Order: sequence, then structure tokens, then C-alpha cells
Amino acid sequence: MTTDERWGDLTANVLRQTSELAIDYLRSLPDRPVAPSARLAELRQRMGGPLPEGGTTAEQVVRELALAGEAGAMASAGPRFFGFVIGGGLPVALAADWLTSTWDQNATMYVINPAAAVAEETAAGWLLELFDLPRDAGVGFTTGCQMAHVVALAAARRHVLLKRGWDVDRYGLQGAPRVRVLAGAEVHVTVPRALQLLGLGSETMELVAADGQGRMRPDALAQALAEGERDMPTVVCAQVGNVNTGACDPMSEIADVVRTAGDAWLHVDGAFGLWARAVPELGPLVSGLERADSWASDFHKWLNVPYDSGLVVVRQRDIHRAAMAPSAAYLMPSERDERDPWDWVAEFSRRARGFPVYAALRGLGRLGVADMVRGNCALAARMAAGLSREPGVEVLNEVVLNQVLVRFGDDDQLTRDVIARVQADGTCWLSGSVWQDRAVMRVSVSNWSTTEEDADLSTDAILRCYRAARDGAGDRGAASPR
Ligand SMILES: *Cc1c(COP(=O)(O)O)cnc(C)c1O
Repeated sequence: MTTDERWGDLTANVLRQTSELAIDYLRSLPDRPVAPSARLAELRQRMGGPLPEGGTTAEQVVRELALAGEAGAMASAGPRFFGFVIGGGLPVALAADWLTSTWDQNATMYVINPAAAVAEETAAGWLLELFDLPRDAGVGFTTGCQMAHVVALAAARRHVLLKRGWDVDRYGLQGAPRVRVLAGAEVHVTVPRALQLLGLGSETMELVAADGQGRMRPDALAQALAEGERDMPTVVCAQVGNVNTGACDPMSEIADVVRTAGDAWLHVDGAFGLWARAVPELGPLVSGLERADSWASDFHKWLNVPYDSGLVVVRQRDIHRAAMAPSAAYLMPSERDERDPWDWVAEFSRRARGFPVYAALRGLGRLGVADMVRGNCALAARMAAGLSREPGVEVLNEVVLNQVLVRFGDDDQLTRDVIARVQADGTCWLSGSVWQDRAVMRVSVSNWSTTEEDADLSTDAILRCYRAARDGAGDRGAASPR
């Protein structure tokens, strides 16, 4: 193979073709039905089959993959996807993500990939400033908030046990003092999952009562802490941004309670809620969280960076690093000036996911991040207002952030029916959830490209589906009264 064959026209052709396909897809996002058009059988038929014996040209593989992939893709990158908390991809972040794949660098050590190390270093500094967290904290770029919890709680585990004379990273949990973990009743499922992976067990967590919006109650936390042994190694997991209501634990009061009760480690799940720190008006909602010991968040949600990308921050950088840094003998100690990305996460070899984060932050600036988050919250409030104007439609939560919980006719079945109709309608996409034992439709606005027009089109579609479902349900109801 000549150089030209390897890196010349063959490569250029498939990359140009791919960029055209990608641009066509992105252009189609505002108009295409949000739900995927292809079902399981069709996707298996298109993408399945036996392991090919021989090769296929790159152009053909990419063309066919694009067709099948788009047919089976939820248009979650588009402006009218309101399911879960997903976020889209800013053009600048997507472009940087392409470069990241093109460079194909291994973000382990500075020596292997200096640019990735410096992009992380710069972005880390910007993030600590944006969120107003301790400027000398440890920062790691993870795959998502799940792994951010694992890293943060590994640091927590190390710290609380080391204070009782136990080095868990060397000797493990066998023979270690018992660690007490408390979390709000509305804790996200990724926290117990992290505890499970860390050998602390997913079921040993003590749940602290939450209020009607899902916020951990400081009085209940104080009581739970007072009931335990004062000297027990303890970790408290709080949350800003409840995945249903968007509610944030009252962090100042929680920090007061934790600091008064002893020396527990305070961890904060801020998967999307941490981004409220970028918006001055939302300050009161999330003030006090800077007093915690560790924070977990996501870039792929509210920063609108392509999947996958998460953030972990640990106040005591030495503890963070000691819990994570690979210590194999052939690795050089790095009390050097350079940042080694692998010192702050659980992975060894990994993608240089600091580049898209750096690009998004540089592209938006502090004001741009604030505008995006603020704008999404305003659209959530707009949809909540539009929906609740309709008789029989109720918004169940205080819309403090970007999440709205909607209930139709105080009826689980009707609510589920509306959701199914909305998903089939294709104008927008939302999912159902359960809030305080009642079925709800959950609206999450977290995409940079969503406009007022998108919000209004979606509100209209939801109400259209509601009326159709209600009238259908009314017919059934008349035949068989409940
Ligand atoms: C999404 C979410 C998580 C998990 O984040 P991943 O990036 O999916 O790992 C954790 N906590 C909360 C509150 C979330 O919304």
C-alpha cells in the first residue's frame, strides 16, 4: 500500500462522505419524527447476518450503517426530545469529538498525549471557576456520572477509613471498620450501584426522609446522624437536580448538619443540577454545595457534549489521586508539573474526552453556559404553564429547574396512554416515570437547540394527544364505570 492509498483518496473519500451524511442527519433533526422509525426485527435484518468472510469497502459500510443507524436512532440530539435528561451535542463539541477520534490519542499520561493532558488541565480550571468549587480540587473526566460516583466514593472510602487507621486501597474491606452511608430517599440509582462496585453494598445505604419535592430533609439527616455511633466512618450522599422534579437538596443546611455531627464525607450528585451553579439567578437553589467533599456531574447532559462524558471533583486532591493513580512499578511517579489524566479516573487507556469539553466551554464562555441552562429552564416553565392551562392536566412539581412532571386526569392509565400517543405522534418524545406512586409524564429540557417554537409545538402535540386519549378513555369509562 502506498502512503496515498492509506491516507490519500481512500480515506478522504470516506471521511467526506461521512461528513455529508452527518450534516444531512443533523439538518433533518428539527423535522424528522423524534421516535425511531425502525423496529427490532427490521434493525436485525438490516444489521444482522453472519460474520462476513471477506471485506466491504469503507464507503459501502458507512452508507449502509448510516441508513440503518438513522432508522434506528431516537432523534435525542434534536430540539424536541424531552426524555430522561439527555442533552444534545453543540456543533463545536461534536467537531472536537471528531478530532478526538481522528487523533486517536490515549489519554493516560502526559507523555503519550500532551495536548489531551493540557485540554483537561485547562477545562478543569475553568470548571472549578464556573461552579465556584475549591480551585485546588482534584478533577477527573469520566464516562458519566455513574463512574464519577465510583471515583468520588472511592476517595470517600479511602479518607473515612484512613482516619480510623485503615488503608482500604492496600488491604481492601476485609477486616476494615464498617462504613456507614446515608443518602436521601430520592437518591439516584447510580449511587447504590457505585457503592456495590466499591464493596460497600447497595443495600446497606440508610435512606433519609425526603420532602414532597424529593429534597433530603436536614432534620431527618441530623436525627439519623445523631442515632449512629459518632466515630463510625460515615459518608453522606446528597443531590442537586432530582431526576424527576429537578429539586435540589438544601445544601447549606445539609452541610451544617454534617459538619456539626462529626466528620462525615459529604458527596453531591449534581449530574445536571450542578450546572445551575453557572446561572447567577439560580444561585440560591444550589448554594452551600461548595462545602461538600466531592461532586459528580455530567458533560453529556447539560453541557451538550456528545456521549460519553462526565465529571468528578474531589476537594482533597491528594486523597482523590491516591485512590485512583495507577501504581504499577513501571510507571513513573508524577510529582511533575504535568497532569496525567489517569491519576483522576478509574480507567487506564481511554479516549481523550477532555477535548470536546474544552471546546464546548471555550465556544460558549461563562455567559453562554449560563444562557443555555437558563434558556432550558425558561422553556420548561413555558411548557409547564402551557400544559397546566388545560383543564384536567396538572403539573405536580415546583418547576425550579428544567424538569416538569405532568399528570393527566389524575389517572395512571390515562397518563400512560397520553405518553404512548405522544411517542407515536413523533412531534416530540417524552417518557413516563413514577412520582410518589403515581404515573407521570416527565419533561426534561436540556438541549441547546430547543426554541420557544419547539416548546409550543410540543405542548400542542401533548395536549392533542391528551384530548384524544381522554375522549377515548371517556368512551371506555362510560361503558364500564370505575
Ligand atoms: C443521569 C443521572 C445520573 C447518571 O449519570 P450517567 O451520566 O448516566 O452515568 C446520576 N444522577 C442523576 C441525578 C442523574 O440525573
